[in-house]
Amino acid sequence: MSQDPLVPKSKLPTLGTTIFTQMSALAQQYQAINLSQGFPDFDGPVELQERLACHVRKGENQYAPMTGVPALREAIADKTAELYGYKPDANSDITVTAGATEALYAAITALVRPGDEVICFDPSYDSYAPAVMLAGGVLKRIALHPPAFHVDWQAFASVISPRTRLVILNTPHNPSATVWRQHDFAALWQAIVAHEIYVLSDEVYEHICFADEGHASVLAHPHLRQRAIAVSSFGKTYHMTGWKVGYCVAPAALSAEVRKIHQFLTFAVNTPTQLALADILRSQPQHYRQLPDFYRARRDRFVQALATSRFEILPCEGTYFLLADYHKISDLDDVSFCQWLTKEVGVAAIPLSVFCADPFPHKLIRLCFAKQDATLDQAAERLCQC
Ligand code: PMP
Ligand code: GLN
Repeated sequence: MSQDPLVPKSKLPTLGTTIFTQMSALAQQYQAINLSQGFPDFDGPVELQERLACHVRKGENQYAPMTGVPALREAIADKTAELYGYKPDANSDITVTAGATEALYAAITALVRPGDEVICFDPSYDSYAPAVMLAGGVLKRIALHPPAFHVDWQAFASVISPRTRLVILNTPHNPSATVWRQHDFAALWQAIVAHEIYVLSDEVYEHICFADEGHASVLAHPHLRQRAIAVSSFGKTYHMTGWKVGYCVAPAALSAEVRKIHQFLTFAVNTPTQLALADILRSQPQHYRQLPDFYRARRDRFVQALATSRFEILPCEGTYFLLADYHKISDLDDVSFCQWLTKEVGVAAIPLSVFCADPFPHKLIRLCFAKQDATLDQAAERLCQC
């Protein structure tokens, strides 16, 4: 008699495979140009690759310190001081993580207790909600609306309760490509000043911001940064999403809590990659300083190439994503439209509704423009035929 295998009662019963994995697989199946999952189709700086090879050859292949190699934490502290006028302590305030994903998970796990409420803004990046749910938290999602995706601060204030523990924000914002300004952080501070509420600021696209005034970081706000965890990712900055190295910056007491989780999630991030990143942060600061120009040129080329299409392109203030409204092309919902686009037109994109809890009635898709000119031109040619 065969015995039934034990099937665990899922802790995340409604969760499927991420849209990024699904759409990249569909793109591969149909040989479509993959503008869905966000990753460049070009390599990062040659010097970075050479530094990695050099550190591997030199034998830097054993465990790194749990919090990150000192040279990298010090370089991050100096970069933060240069950009945001505030120098975190490299020893106590900076933790190197396995991509931003790990930092976000560790931060949420460290801060959210069962029954705590967590405010986030929809559309919101897909890794936040499962982490909050696993911690026993309750998400309070505030819907933002296109094209501006502005926060209504009155609505925000009405969502705060004695149970609110954490606010999660993301700027530059994936997927809307909008950015927060300093006045948004001022409004956030006003709304939470009287409460014991922490802030998790996902700033993985901090160096891909096209606003005249540059990227507004939570770390530049003297009050907010005392209760904030700011998260960044070298994958975005150095065109190496597969390296999976990120970090978070937070005051010592908050960092200590994050590190309690980090040390049992991954313990430490791979050593030679950290050393290579420390080298290039020091030797080529122009790389991140020039990144807005680098991506602005790609954005403008792509927008120009789509000018004769029937898509309506929304403003893009940051990230390497462009939103396109397809209401003149199809009545399909956005998930079906993205599948149709991949199979019939040969371009894969990401639907926006998957980032929202409430129905998202808009006909918007996200296109990644972190691609070579030839890729963008070919994709635009196909999209113009829709
Ligand atoms: N947050 C946002 C908003 C992202 O877009 C991404 C990845 N694209 C991440 C976090 C995760 O970054 P990483 O790949 O470094 O884990
Ligand atoms: N964050 C990337 C995006 O928005 C994808 C990351 C992933 O595949 N998990 O496309």
